[in-house]
Amino acid sequence: MIVFLWLWGGSGTKRQSKFIFMLILILIVFSGINIYLFQRHIRLVEGDVGIINQLGTIRGSIQRFVKLELAKGDNEHIKDTIDNIFDAQKKLDTPYLAEAEKYWEELKLIAKLYRNNPSDYYRKLLVGRSEECWESIDLAIQKNQSIAENKVNNLVLPLVFLILMLVFAVILIFITKKYVYDNLETFAAYDNLTKAHSRRYFIEYTKNEIARAERKNTEFALIMFDIDYFKSINDTYGHSVGDEVLKTLVEIVRKDLRKSDVLARIGGEEFAVLLPDATIWSAVTTAERARKNIEKHYFKGIGNITVSFGVTSYQEGDKVEDLMKRADTALYMAKNGGRNRTETA
Ligand code: GH3
Ligand code: MG
Ligand code: MG
Repeated sequence: MIVFLWLWGGSGTKRQSKFIFMLILILIVFSGINIYLFQRHIRLVEGDVGIINQLGTIRGSIQRFVKLELAKGDNEHIKDTIDNIFDAQKKLDTPYLAEAEKYWEELKLIAKLYRNNPSDYYRKLLVGRSEECWESIDLAIQKNQSIAENKVNNLVLPLVFLILMLVFAVILIFITKKYVYDNLETFAAYDNLTKAHSRRYFIEYTKNEIARAERKNTEFALIMFDIDYFKSINDTYGHSVGDEVLKTLVEIVRKDLRKSDVLARIGGEEFAVLLPDATIWSAVTTAERARKNIEKHYFKGIGNITVSFGVTSYQEGDKVEDLMKRADTALYMAKNGGRNRTETA
């Protein structure tokens, strides 16, 4: 519930990034569980293989033990080997071994009796018991083999987690793609052509500046400017020459700005500057200086161009739209008043 509320809180973008964060966490946890399950599985199967090998050694050794006994050879080391394996398997709680071990103990006893009295009776008894012992250990091997096979087949849980992981990975890819697509503009803080800030960046920055002004009672100003008769420049000299003008213009304006001022391209040939801690009059001074610098600049292949400026400053209660609208009104006044001038609103 808490997780759900947390996920649902915040704006669309924030919600998306929280979702992505959650999915990544889930994927990491699932990967961990999956690795653990598969490793445990491998360990179990490896253990079973070891047990079956050991039981196989007992099966083979019993026959050799009896053969040597009948031939009166030395079979002490074989006896020790079998005893040791039984001991070890007992510690491992290997199932289906009790009967085989009982027969083995009897076989050892009969072998001892046969050694003391190698009669036909004991010989037969020895051979008979060795066969029973062999069969019971063979049965134990088969049973343990089928237990191991069942474990191998029982991969349901790791597979379920693997499928869940794949599903989550697909969802993650899908949401991340959408997130990147939705926020492409926000991610791009700069305009490609002029290297001024982007419109989205400028709006976000202005929002923050408004919040700062409300909190700390500071002031700030906003300049908007637009090239005069730019359309005819494009029409006369071509679009690429127009692009060069835009780039040069940004360089000229930037020269007179402070480090803290934010210059952005907010439209085709429309720009804005946010001047933190500036009054409307200091912003007018900045705008006028930029206007005069542009006016006297010789643009390669074109000559002189002019730019109109609109200036405003933050008023209590302003939203970004209010500020932009006022700056735009001032700019419109400058255009209407004959262009190549600065107006305030
Ligand atoms: P005004 O003095 O009233 O501003 O006249 P204007 O011709 O500058 O105004 P208008 O809005 O009619 O024209 C703006 C032109 O800017 C139109 C468009 O071709 C041009 N423009 C917009 N973006 C770009 C760009 O990225 N590169 C170039 N070269 N031109 C652009
Ligand atoms: Mg223009
Ligand atoms: Mg324009």
